[in-house]
Amino acid sequence: MKHIGIIGAGFSGMMTAVHLIENSVSKQIISIFDTKERFGKGIAYSPYSKSHLLNVPASKMSAFVSDPDHFVNWLLVEKKIIIQLEELKNSFQPRYVYGEYLTNIWEKALETAKNKGIEINCYFSQVIDLKLTNSSIELTLADQSVIEVSKCVLATGNQLPKNFKIETNSSEKIQGYFQNPWNIDSVINTENIDSVLIIGNGLTMIDTVLGLMEKNFEGQIYTISPHGFNCISSSNGYQHKINEFKFDSKNASLKQVVDLVNNELKIAKKKRISTEYIFHEIRPYTQLLWKSFSSHEKAKFLSVFEYLWNSGRHRLPVEVIDKINNLIDSKLQIIKGKILSVNYLNGLFDVFLDSKDESNLKVKRIINCTGSATNLDHIENNLLTNLKNNKLICQDEFKLGIKTNIDSFQIINSNGEILPNIYTLGPTLKGELWETTSVTEIRVQAEKLGEILAN
Ligand SMILES: Cc1cc2nc3c(=O)[nH]c(=O)nc-3n(C[C@H](O)[C@H](O)[C@H](O)COP(=O)(O)OP(=O)(O)OC[C@H]3O[C@@H](n4cnc5c(N)ncnc54)[C@H](O)[C@@H]3O)c2cc1C
Repeated sequence: MKHIGIIGAGFSGMMTAVHLIENSVSKQIISIFDTKERFGKGIAYSPYSKSHLLNVPASKMSAFVSDPDHFVNWLLVEKKIIIQLEELKNSFQPRYVYGEYLTNIWEKALETAKNKGIEINCYFSQVIDLKLTNSSIELTLADQSVIEVSKCVLATGNQLPKNFKIETNSSEKIQGYFQNPWNIDSVINTENIDSVLIIGNGLTMIDTVLGLMEKNFEGQIYTISPHGFNCISSSNGYQHKINEFKFDSKNASLKQVVDLVNNELKIAKKKRISTEYIFHEIRPYTQLLWKSFSSHEKAKFLSVFEYLWNSGRHRLPVEVIDKINNLIDSKLQIIKGKILSVNYLNGLFDVFLDSKDESNLKVKRIINCTGSATNLDHIENNLLTNLKNNKLICQDEFKLGIKTNIDSFQIINSNGEILPNIYTLGPTLKGELWETTSVTEIRVQAEKLGEILAN
């Protein structure tokens, strides 16, 4: 009997399983592996705080491409939210609510699987290795048990941020450095802490500041990143349109895109309207644009425009921006600059900065909010490390993800050969597609991959 293994039960893995179940006509076994018992939720939709919000309006968060109002309708029916429909569609719902939505989808898929005679096995364990044999794929779990499958999906998703170098006397155990900003440990037990440094000024920094406040942290918070803080509030400004795309997105050059954005920015400034629509309108074409760029253009985009693109496309609800702005006056200092070095001694981090704002900070806690690591050389995931060392996977030239045939989702090994039975989707495709981490992109991939696997 066909046996499909899905490694990772975040949105990517779970939605692939949902479509696989939906499309399957024959009996088979689907085994799903995750280190945590948070089915479908992954890191993004199992937040430690109820105040952590989605960064995308509800109207764009349906899990199904073919049913764009699926999430909004679920909110209306299951959560019985009584507000104007337009207001609901534009609202930024709590991430834990989205986790409940995904759990609901999974429960329905399990019923379908039962009716179709599909066996579903859920393993709450890390997969640490994968080996190809003549007839199957062997997955080794953390307890060394081995599960044999015929096809396998790497839905390993977001990784911990790249670790940070801290100098210390080798015998001293560092306490107070948190590599995982999505874990509640990073914001609790702060009674004896008077100062925290958050590395990174993006959306995770905001969640972390809100988390610290919620846990009644009373000290000083510093945040640092090379560009400072530039998150923009959402103005629901999607009603405007870019006049005309004067290029074919399959053959566009970086210069054409930059000219278009610059031109629209001028128009928006003149009309005094939010620039939100510009990024919103270009977003559906970003994968095509990325694919059409030469290596040189990709390198230029990453060195010059990546930061601008990321800050332009991420929006926050006005009330969240207001909360952050209020804290800036009292206990939050946002620093524009770089960290030169960090020394740890007796529970204190001595941080040297290259910044006009500050040159030295002494803090008792550091929280790494630099975002999910993509470079396999830095990723701390035994499975991915073993796959890389065994040359079953390799990275794209910018080390953003795993080389993959994006039409079939099949992995390409380090000899350039397509592996017929190993697939991937979601954040691991960043090198191939650039924009591939949000629900809008992954739901398309999960639907296609579910169909491929069912046949
Ligand atoms: C904090 C945060 C907030 C976000 N908010 C939004 C949002 O509002 N809207 C939006 O569209 N997108 C958002 N995103 C983007 C998010 O990446 C996607 O929406 C989506 O959740 C990614 O799902 P995934 O399954 O690919 O990855 P993940 O959610 O990271 O799931 C991967 C799973 O694989 C498991 N895993 C990894 N390796 C192994 C292994 N070797 N063995 C077993 N299990 C393994 C992990 O434990 C994890 O549960 C957010 C991302 C983050 C990090």
